[in-house]
Amino acid sequence: MSEKFDLGIIGAGPAGYTAALHARNAGLSVVLFEKDKAGGVCLNRGCIPTKTILHSAELYEEMKNAQNLGFDIENLAVDYEKIAARKDSVVEKLRKGLELSLKNAGVKLVYTEAFPLDEHRINAGDNVYECKKILVATGAKPRELPNLKFDHKFILNSDDVLNLTKLPESILIIGSGAIGTEWARIFAAFDVSVTVVEMAEHLLPSADIEISKRLERIFKSKKIKFYTSTSVTGITGNNVELSNGEIITPDKILVAAGREPLAVNQINGLTYIGDACGNIQLAHFAIKQAIAEVTGIKFYENLVPSVVYGCPEIAWIGRREQDLQEGTYEKSVMLTSALGKSHCDNCTEGIIKILAKDNKIIGAHIISKEASALIQQILTAIQNNISIDKLKEICYAHPTYSEGIFESLFKL
Ligand SMILES: Cc1cc2nc3c(=O)[nH]c(=O)nc-3n(C[C@H](O)[C@H](O)[C@H](O)COP(=O)(O)OP(=O)(O)OC[C@H]3O[C@@H](n4cnc5c(N)ncnc54)[C@H](O)[C@@H]3O)c2cc1C
Repeated sequence: MSEKFDLGIIGAGPAGYTAALHARNAGLSVVLFEKDKAGGVCLNRGCIPTKTILHSAELYEEMKNAQNLGFDIENLAVDYEKIAARKDSVVEKLRKGLELSLKNAGVKLVYTEAFPLDEHRINAGDNVYECKKILVATGAKPRELPNLKFDHKFILNSDDVLNLTKLPESILIIGSGAIGTEWARIFAAFDVSVTVVEMAEHLLPSADIEISKRLERIFKSKKIKFYTSTSVTGITGNNVELSNGEIITPDKILVAAGREPLAVNQINGLTYIGDACGNIQLAHFAIKQAIAEVTGIKFYENLVPSVVYGCPEIAWIGRREQDLQEGTYEKSVMLTSALGKSHCDNCTEGIIKILAKDNKIIGAHIISKEASALIQQILTAIQNNISIDKLKEICYAHPTYSEGIFESLFKL
């Protein structure tokens, strides 16, 4: 006999569990299938574990330079096994919390691989579940490159790199998107010799050109070697040959060349959400899309903030300067070193760049401590059509990085 539900969801990552919780909130009966671990990539192999390790990396980097801050530290050393263990315990704690929330909300969570049979039936194990509606939230997997097949020992993907309990002496990172850039900064902070290879002309190619160039300066200052407009042409043993003729011999290779949607039976009438729909592959995109799907709350899919974590953070929203026609916009750029707070925090590296047109912000590109929080202010202004004159009426606390936004407004 088959069980009946209002909503059946395949995949318990951010898209799936968010849809499940909001659907229960609206009084629907919900069954949620997960073949691996609740929380999906974000919680188990993505956002959370990476940022947990990054926190240790940032702390270590700061402590290495802590003499200027009044600390005398002897025998500062990294115990990466402990860092990896803390990452596991953070992930486990959050996963248990999520499972409890799903249980308390009355979501039926079934740990099995599931497949849609048609628009209203899901097959999981020996059972068939009848659902008025089905959401497919099966996520994505790391993209493999033809000449860089993952062997999970030397050639790693983003899952493998999180399983390391020992730091390599050197690593070659293929791709300088968010994942590649974050890991480059993590490894460099831990004194691993890092080389990044990027096919595009500049690092972090999806960012505003000025941000990319600034990141290249940051990489140089952190002794992260990088090659742009370059690709891997061949591997023999540990020798990696690049298109520029260089040969490097890293301990490990991390391929961070994007992610591709995980396919399930393609059936008409199913709704795909999150990474599975192959759109913007970010957890907050998945979450907003899930909420929009279940509650109808509007989601401006063209206004999704991008954040690259590390010290300092990088964040942006809206139009990039290289996509705008000269003379059609105004621009203000200010260095975060002009802000008192950046000196208090010993983190003066960065810029706040705002692009505007007709008294409205059309894009913002920030490298700064707390950039992830700053970008939300700009997003609120853009999405609500708030004019620059109106923003100038706001009182910004001092000393903060937000003051950088306030001051930038007067330069437009
Ligand atoms: C290293 C890394 C760092 C990242 N950092 C960030 C970040 O800082 N910020 C950010 O916004 N995004 C980040 N992301 C991206 C983010 O993790 C994804 O966008 C997000 O997890 C997508 O959520 P989702 O629910 O669509 O899919 P997933 O999180 O992939 O969840 C899909 C779930 O479906 C399950 N599943 C698949 N097929 C089936 C099946 N047939 N039956 C049952 N279950 C199934 C999978 O096991 C998985 O648990 C990062 C990704 C990586 C890899």
